[in-house]
Amino acid sequence: MTKETIDLLFPDATLTPEVWEAKYPPRQLPEGAMVTRVAPSPTGFMHIGTVMTALFAERMARQTGGVFFLRVEDTDKKREVKGAVNIITKGLSYYGITVDEYPDGPYGPYTQSERKYIYLTYARHLVEKGFAYPCFATPEELEKARAEQEGLKTRPGYYGRWATWREGSEEAVHERLNAGVPFVIRMRSAGSHERKVSFDDAIKGKIMMPENDIDAVLIKADKLPTYHFAHVVDEHLMRVTHVTRGDEWLPSLSIHVELFGMFGWELPVFGHSAPIEKKEGSSRRKLSKRKDPEASVEHYEKEGYPAQSVQEFLLNLLNSNFEDWRKENPILTNNEFKLSFEKMSVSGALFDLAKLNDVSKEVISRMSAEQVYDLAIAWAKEHDEHLAQVIAGDKPYALTVLAIERNQEKPRKDIAKWSELWGEISYFYEEPEMGGETSVGAEHVKQSKEIVEAFIVEYDQQDDKERWLDKLRAMAERLGYARDTKSYKAEPEKYKGTLGDVTKVLRLLLAGRAVSPDLWEVMRVLGEKKVRARLGTICDLD
Ligand code: GLU
Repeated sequence: MTKETIDLLFPDATLTPEVWEAKYPPRQLPEGAMVTRVAPSPTGFMHIGTVMTALFAERMARQTGGVFFLRVEDTDKKREVKGAVNIITKGLSYYGITVDEYPDGPYGPYTQSERKYIYLTYARHLVEKGFAYPCFATPEELEKARAEQEGLKTRPGYYGRWATWREGSEEAVHERLNAGVPFVIRMRSAGSHERKVSFDDAIKGKIMMPENDIDAVLIKADKLPTYHFAHVVDEHLMRVTHVTRGDEWLPSLSIHVELFGMFGWELPVFGHSAPIEKKEGSSRRKLSKRKDPEASVEHYEKEGYPAQSVQEFLLNLLNSNFEDWRKENPILTNNEFKLSFEKMSVSGALFDLAKLNDVSKEVISRMSAEQVYDLAIAWAKEHDEHLAQVIAGDKPYALTVLAIERNQEKPRKDIAKWSELWGEISYFYEEPEMGGETSVGAEHVKQSKEIVEAFIVEYDQQDDKERWLDKLRAMAERLGYARDTKSYKAEPEKYKGTLGDVTKVLRLLLAGRAVSPDLWEVMRVLGEKKVRARLGTICDLD
């Protein structure tokens, strides 16, 4: 193709590849340092799987003294949503994923639409070398070819004899250009579908697939690159060493490999991860943006899962040895865990909300009352005004409430997310609701009354835990309850019940629930006035 025609095809591509090569030289990093990236599209929805891949990529860069950056892939203008970039950057920082480069950095711009001239330079270069060509096929012509291929039961796509503009004459190109017909730039594939190629995937291992023979579009009619082209140019110029991405890109890998080859560029290491799955009945399916609220990163923040909990949960999904490591190293930070490609699961990791809740209860149980207070109030300010007001109203009191059964060998593990907090502490602020589970039960009213009356007589707010328990045990025995479960089990017919039945009555009246943290601590924090008032209510029952 003559220079004149190429100039007409690329009126804006006036620079040469050398200019960009010089602008983005190889990075000066120590041996083994990984350069990784997360490359989401600003569609307004951020999948939790994107955070998981980003977390992995970031950790790999950190572990090797490399670089991790964000690249916004906004070349599909139809899918772009305003404010979406904000969701991405907020999502990453919420989960403690820090980017070294974005929006500024030496290899920027990091938004693909701002790199338009770079892609055009390289597309022009390929056309000059005969590795790419303009294609003026109209949507109708492409549709006709597709229908014909279907009729012939042959593979769909723009390849071989279907690639009609492969050998388009300069004359035909000029004619279309003069008529203002929109065109795309396609690669001229030299591959054969009959030949197999193999790749080493850092996650999936050896993969065999047919060579690419599709003349894939590189530059669309709007002059922006396709994913395939931008991916290849960017990974090269941004000097990425390891590409981790969803395995929906695996079928296109042969296109990417051919393009890297056309430029004579070194391939990065690829790691393709399977999508997160969820159990449905006895089968598994992909965690779906449409069906599962937990597919969205925003869900976790709204529900009030601490970022650290989600991070631990994701680390667990990434490398299943995380769980054992955490058990052995309860006080180390997540960043001290070493992630690896080898431990990544080849098939989809199973997403289990019950597991997240367990992980989160553990994480919160390790926090101090101050940490719980700070995180809960930050969440409540956005999502639960009432909770925010109540706990901010008397911080020292809130801290004593939150300190119950914390900082001890077996801390309380009843809270998985901040949206559950009010349900767990409301009785320290408001009268507990009596009814349903909280009703003491008609047939027990008589005994309960007897229990409460006996308790009130001896109740002294100054009693330490030991004295309080001694008194309680003695009282239970006097009323015909076993002082411990062992005695009860030995001779159940001898007793009305156990000490547990006695404390249950007190719990129900004081906290509106049959299960609560340590009762002595609850009473101590509630204070004498509230304790007497709440227990007093039963004395009015007949
Ligand atoms: N923009 C692509 C996506 O959102 C990125 C895939 C990749 O990481 O290369 O699916």
